[in-house]
Amino acid sequence: MTSGGDSPGMNAAIRSVVRTCAFYKIECAGIYRGYQGMIEGDFISLDARSVKGIINKGGTFLKSARSQEFRTKAGRQKAYNALKNANIDALVVIGGDGSFTGALLFSKEFNFPVMGIPGTIDNDIAGTSHTLGYDTTLNTVVDVIDKIRDTASSHNRLFFVEVMGRDVGYIALNAGVGAGAEEILIPEEDLGLERLLESLKRSKESGKSSSIVVVAEGDKIGKNVFELKDYVEENLPEYEVRVSVLGHMQRGGSPSCFDRVLASRMGVKAVESLLANESRLMVGLMNDKITVTPLHKAIKGQSKINKELIRVSDIMST
Ligand code: ATP
Repeated sequence: MTSGGDSPGMNAAIRSVVRTCAFYKIECAGIYRGYQGMIEGDFISLDARSVKGIINKGGTFLKSARSQEFRTKAGRQKAYNALKNANIDALVVIGGDGSFTGALLFSKEFNFPVMGIPGTIDNDIAGTSHTLGYDTTLNTVVDVIDKIRDTASSHNRLFFVEVMGRDVGYIALNAGVGAGAEEILIPEEDLGLERLLESLKRSKESGKSSSIVVVAEGDKIGKNVFELKDYVEENLPEYEVRVSVLGHMQRGGSPSCFDRVLASRMGVKAVESLLANESRLMVGLMNDKITVTPLHKAIKGQSKINKELIRVSDIMST
């Protein structure tokens, strides 16, 4: 099943789980609409051919959902009954930390084997250097910022580009460095309004014809992108500022080769772990090796922003 926010690469992960099951001659069922579909017994039998032509598709053909009912004991009991009625005896959950929290609780309550595959564009899960969809999103964001820069430099404008990332700044920091942003505002660091103004002033004086500032949704500067625009225009009247909020387009699109390969590797590991009687683990990628981490550590652990990359970004904006 896929659960929580969708991300590119989820289809590729479903395909991998289904094909690995077929390889080991295990029957496989897909659960529609995450935990809500699980409660309602909304299942579909899947064989190797059912997942043809989906490796390149964004989103998730099994659909995703958020389920309030699964948060209750009664809801989880219904879900367990539905799984038992369908003779399902192990579960692979592709989702984010909320989905893993639900999976862990469910596994403990009913002694049900579960494995997690991290599927979320934010890359905010410990125990893996990359979550599924993150790489695709970076490529999408870099592509869009390149386009914005074309218009920014034609008109000598400053653009604030807001990207996803309420609690973590991975997308902003990496796409910002990749797209040559002048400044990057992330939740992990409070740059401060004064420093932002100083930096923009320096940028103008050094003869730059356009400036891009990438802002994560949850940045700590204390103003949203539109308030930032007003603030900068008041304090630096030489700047004409525009705002671009990228929004949900960041979640969509065909997964990158990296995400397809990662999804394929993770799906194999998830099924093989269940076959080895392992449970309550999340599959991850560490130093290019497929690893497993206990679900409770993946949920509680903090994925740390790369300080070295922050330094690189500072040097690049000279
Ligand atoms: P994303 O990171 O993209 O938001 P997510 O997996 O964290 O993905 P959530 O909406 O937090 O998304 O969780 C998905 C679903 O998992 C919830 O709708 C709910 O059904 C279930 N879930 C989350 N937390 C719990 C919990 N504490 N107990 C039981 N179920 C939970």
